[in-house]
Amino acid sequence: MLDVTDTAPSHPPAPSELAANWRDDAACRGLDTELFFPGQGESIMEAKQICSSCPVRVECADYALDSGQRFGIWGGTTERDRRRERGRRRAACANDLESVA
Ligand code: SF4
Repeated sequence: MLDVTDTAPSHPPAPSELAANWRDDAACRGLDTELFFPGQGESIMEAKQICSSCPVRVECADYALDSGQRFGIWGGTTERDRRRERGRRRAACANDLESVA
């Protein structure tokens, strides 16, 4: 009989494992980070294009939201996109709390 208890990965992965893992597959790995942190008036299109085909786009966007990244392009989202999403989450949370009260 096969005993898989020694080889089975933990689930869900610990946050540090998860963070290390998704970054390994990032499409931006090794690219100029300035692309993802454009200055005022500089284009974000190239960064968004790279993100659009990145295999860890969802993980990256979630990380940016969860860790409160205020600047740059993460998971194809802009600062404004993330502010809007945080507002949506806060509103949804407030609605949930009201419905329970
Ligand atoms: S989604 Fe974009 S910023 Fe995030 S890891 Fe992929 S290429 Fe990099």
